[in-house]
Amino acid sequence: MRHKALFKFVVKVCGLVMALIGLSIFSVQAIDLLSDLMRRETYGYYQIRSLFYCVPYIGVGTYLCFWGNWIADKAFPAGPKCCPACGYQARGNISGVCSECGSVLPPEFKEANHE
Ligand SMILES: [Zn+2]
Repeated sequence: MRHKALFKFVVKVCGLVMALIGLSIFSVQAIDLLSDLMRRETYGYYQIRSLFYCVPYIGVGTYLCFWGNWIADKAFPAGPKCCPACGYQARGNISGVCSECGSVLPPEFKEANHE
């Protein structure tokens, strides 16, 4: 597995774990609120507010899971002189294969290096 692909996978797994933590927080708070309602106990504003504690977890987790490629592109910049798989500066490459990760460079890559 290439460096950038591994990085994207780790970001997605972190996002998934965060979203699952958020869902578990929401379900625990919702069950707590529902059980208080069914026992006709008093419940305060703080209990309804606690339902929203999960929002940052689910929000950030969903972002990392589905749109985390932006972070991978920042960590492994892909420019005309960078390997698209690992971001290695491959200026002057003549073999057509990245010397860092071994992935085959796209054909337009070689033309971009002929200056
Ligand atoms: Zn590479």
